[in-house]
Amino acid sequence: MKAAMFKRLNEMAVAEVPKPKAGEGEVVLKVHDCGICGSDLHAVQFGFGMPPDSVMGHEFCGEIHEVGPGVTGYRIGERVTGFPFIACGKCERCRSGREMQCVKFRGLGLGQLPGAYAEFVLCGAGSLFKIPNNLSSREGALVEPLAVGLHGVKRSRLQPGSACVVMGAGPIGLATLVWCRAKGASVVVVSEPAPKRAELALRMGATAAVDPREINPAHKLRELTGHRPEVIFECVGVKSSLSSAIDMIGIGGQVVVMGVCMEPDEIKPQTCVFKEISLDFVVGYARDEFQETIDAMASGIIDGKPLITDVIPIEQVPDMFQTLRRPAGQAKVLVEFPH
Ligand SMILES: [Zn+2]
Ligand SMILES: [Zn+2]
Repeated sequence: MKAAMFKRLNEMAVAEVPKPKAGEGEVVLKVHDCGICGSDLHAVQFGFGMPPDSVMGHEFCGEIHEVGPGVTGYRIGERVTGFPFIACGKCERCRSGREMQCVKFRGLGLGQLPGAYAEFVLCGAGSLFKIPNNLSSREGALVEPLAVGLHGVKRSRLQPGSACVVMGAGPIGLATLVWCRAKGASVVVVSEPAPKRAELALRMGATAAVDPREINPAHKLRELTGHRPEVIFECVGVKSSLSSAIDMIGIGGQVVVMGVCMEPDEIKPQTCVFKEISLDFVVGYARDEFQETIDAMASGIIDGKPLITDVIPIEQVPDMFQTLRRPAGQAKVLVEFPH
């Protein structure tokens, strides 16, 4: 089968690899769509110890192609998405719905297990979620990044009527915006320098989208509400973005850090102390958040589709990774297989 893999720093390639075979408790999916994620771009740029020839891709939707021994509840042809990892299902963390922190965690598509930039991918049956008929496979591939947004919003103190700032309108910022709205935020100011992404934020429910180099998002929010932001979602993850969030947040407010800054970064603890703010750091999602995302899409509470800006065949993956080093307004790029 064809698969897109990491070759060396800043280089992806497409090649033929053996098709996987389902073992005990496992399922092979025929992949329909798989999203390109910011962590894929980071991983190809920094390596993270990923061995050469690792098949990448972890935001997938596909159909059941082969069911391994001991797997029940799934039939061939059924469409599913899944956690991008195989968890043991038995440890304390798994049993409390936090499989993402499983003691035997094996990730898919970032060097441990082969990912879904491939015609077929091997998954753990316990990691799968069924996709209802009224959702496309493209939407199915959005469940994972949208669930990240839900997780951040659920960890926040956002309530109906809250006013908040979302920093960054990449896929995670946009996913967070969508959930802020779904959970009743009355004002959401998005800060984003790229004009196309800012435009997308407006289409996806932002009250205003500002270029932070020109307009302070907190000032914009005060203009709209008369006060400072109650919650700020930091979805940028570069040096100094956390300290800007701390400068912007209101007294007693909360900064939820979802961006992954890869270098040491300075903050001013005294500002945090005198404002009595909370800083919360979040990653991934819990099992119920994955299901809530599917249900909310199926019932029309959220619409993730505007996130999709590009759909490409697997042959274009290496070029697209180069393009995305300087994104020109792309949000979610999906790799699609004929199905
Ligand atoms: Zn991802
Ligand atoms: Zn576990």
